[in-house]
Amino acid sequence: MDSVEASPLHLLFFPFLANSHMIPMLDIARLAVEHGAKASIVTTPGNVHLVDPLLRRFPSTSLHLIPFPTAAFDLPDGCENLTVLPLPLAEKFFNAVFALRDPLNDLLYSLRPDAIISDVINPWTAALAGEHHIPHVLFQSNGLFAHCVVNDLALHRPYDSISDRSQPFSIPGFPHPVQLTRSQLPELFNHPTMLVWLRDAELSSHAVVVNTFYALEPYYAEHYYKHGPLGRHLFLVGPVALFGGDSEEEEEEKKKKEEKKEPCLEWLDKKANGSVVYVGFGTMGRMKEEQVKELAFGLESSGEAFVWVVESRASEWIPEGYEKRVEGRGLVVRGWAPQKEILSHLAVGCFLSHCGWNSVMEAVTAGVPVITWPIHSEQFVNEKMLVEVVKVGIPAWEGFKSVKDEEKVVVPAEAVVAAVKRLMSGGEEVATMRKRVGELAELARMAVAENGTSNLDINRLISGLVASRHEKFTVKG
Ligand code: UDP
Repeated sequence: MDSVEASPLHLLFFPFLANSHMIPMLDIARLAVEHGAKASIVTTPGNVHLVDPLLRRFPSTSLHLIPFPTAAFDLPDGCENLTVLPLPLAEKFFNAVFALRDPLNDLLYSLRPDAIISDVINPWTAALAGEHHIPHVLFQSNGLFAHCVVNDLALHRPYDSISDRSQPFSIPGFPHPVQLTRSQLPELFNHPTMLVWLRDAELSSHAVVVNTFYALEPYYAEHYYKHGPLGRHLFLVGPVALFGGDSEEEEEEKKKKEEKKEPCLEWLDKKANGSVVYVGFGTMGRMKEEQVKELAFGLESSGEAFVWVVESRASEWIPEGYEKRVEGRGLVVRGWAPQKEILSHLAVGCFLSHCGWNSVMEAVTAGVPVITWPIHSEQFVNEKMLVEVVKVGIPAWEGFKSVKDEEKVVVPAEAVVAAVKRLMSGGEEVATMRKRVGELAELARMAVAENGTSNLDINRLISGLVASRHEKFTVKG
């Protein structure tokens, strides 16, 4: 056997520079290494801390750093990750990421990987992989339902004949009769060329990998197998965070955490099972002052116990004396909270969430129903999935909704009270929802177990890439 054929499959991972995109892709890199592949991670110096745990666990993994062109794109020093970036700078940031094309091209020449795994948000890497004659694997950092919505809408364009941004329309040929409005469409629908670019990137890719599991989105897996651009080359490998045991280092870390518990977890320890509403809007939540105040009053007036993680800027708008008034019943955490640990705490009875995909997966794997409050991007689509398709959530608000800040209607405190009471009060509707999400949590565990659907899909992905390397080698040889 030739040495090229005998060497491990070499995969180059190029994660998009945002925490909620990087972390699940690095989990996939870990899985690939556990399946015998060699991983090279390409990122910028400001994001190394996110790769460190993987490098410590698998020293054979190599890290390749490309300087981020902050100055050339007039971005503030240290802004190398979308998560820490002020929103108005997002477009400059995307342009700066695109400027990484040349250095990435150089790395592809020197590293000569067998395939590149890149985020759906970096469609330009598909053409680059083509130039290097290697397979491109597209990582969809959102769910499969949202992926199908974007694909099918871009193809059929049912919204073209509709000018009213609040008029609902449905998606031709879609498994469920969900309706959306133009105002709820992800921002990328304002850029028709981007939609074409995304489709071309997918069509020229070898595979699409999604952090979801078959039992959560079976209709959409079947829909994609039949109608999606890559058919059976769809791999559902999640929840990636659930895979495998902890490394020694991670176990050590957990032990330390248990010894020195976060105050919000200690606070939860004193609450009855299922009695607390957890409120969190992810890493890029953005609410105006008036909205923060309405939410604060709504949580207070609901009479329910709550933990509310408020981003640093918005925390300045919490009404004066609020924390004193809700003391004992409501806890405000400023900046950051250990979301996964909170969601898996027995005291948590529901999650008021912005419906970012990682939060959706975390709610499902913890078996916690959701009050949906989308803010931007595909979150409005994820809301549809949770409420109307999987039926494990209720909307915080039924009125007009928009991805655009200037169009957003302030959700009144009364709506918050009604939604929280509806989900926390029990009753048949909620009991059914809790039962369903509990079953999904179990199915998520089964998906990542030996012979589980996600485990099998990882094997299928790796063996497909090995086979395509073999074909290339045989043709060339
Ligand atoms: N997260 C957290 N603590 C916080 C805020 C966020 O642990 O205070 C984590 C959360 O558990 C999730 C990720 O950050 O894993 C947010 O990703 P998601 O896709 O839900 O939303 P985004 O931040 O991309 O809008």
